[in-house]
Amino acid sequence: MSLAKKTALVTGSTSGIGLAMATAFAKQGCNIVINGFGEQSLIDSILKDLKAAGAPDAMYSGADMRKADQIAAMVTDAEKKFGSVDIVINNAGIQFVASIGELPSEKWDDIIAINLTAPFHVTKAVLPGMQKRQWGRIINLASVQGLVGSINKSAYVASKHGIIGLTKVTALENATKGITCNAICPGFTLTPLVQKQLDARAAERNLSPEQAVESLLGEKQPMMKFIETDQLAALAVFLASDAAERMTGVALPMDGGWTAQ
Ligand code: NAD
Repeated sequence: MSLAKKTALVTGSTSGIGLAMATAFAKQGCNIVINGFGEQSLIDSILKDLKAAGAPDAMYSGADMRKADQIAAMVTDAEKKFGSVDIVINNAGIQFVASIGELPSEKWDDIIAINLTAPFHVTKAVLPGMQKRQWGRIINLASVQGLVGSINKSAYVASKHGIIGLTKVTALENATKGITCNAICPGFTLTPLVQKQLDARAAERNLSPEQAVESLLGEKQPMMKFIETDQLAALAVFLASDAAERMTGVALPMDGGWTAQ
């Protein structure tokens, strides 16, 4: 079955991995709901690009993923406009690098809210429609940090381990309902989220930009190359396809060898 005319909602899709995911599903002919922060001019140009890429239509929701009522309204608006939400990519996410002693409590709360609690609210809101239609694909952006730990990332690692748990339960509760739920676990991917870590590393250790990249990848990612956002998007399109119909509840790393160590 083709994905054309299905509706794909991608949270946090004004940048990075989410934007690549939205573009990949637009190329499949899906209607697209984008979400995330950004200037109106950026949002307008993304909506235009998505339609040029093949989306019959596209809309934007400015829902803040820390707010349950805004998440519910985003799903209601999308269902009103397109009739259904068939594919969901829970992608919005933030990071903050500090030891447990140095991590401000508000940062812990925000990271857990955006990276873990928001996917729960989105999933809860889309499931009734998916269950009625007996078809749905929920793809959660976890991380290699959902499978292994790293120092100075307590909230992030906890949120990403948590979303893999949520993925398994969503999969099991909907195993006979035509709905699959899987998690993608990327290694370092060069987006604004990682650029911040590179800049901090270069400043702290007095490194050139190239040395910062070598030092970051050298610690964790044996291939010594960033994962490409388009490669992650291609995996998401595969997970939404008929070929992946029997895959559910799994956490798939695309990590340049990180978790093989
Ligand atoms: P990014 O910073 O490029 O994009 C994050 C997106 O989330 C943006 O669109 C931003 O506006 C949106 N966002 C942030 N806070 C929000 C909020 N409160 N409400 C709504 N939207 C909000 O990040 P990215 O690197 O593309 O990360 C996307 C996902 O992939 C995240 O869940 C991240 O944890 C995960 N991930 C990233 C990497 C990596 O190396 N970049 C690795 C593993 C997992």
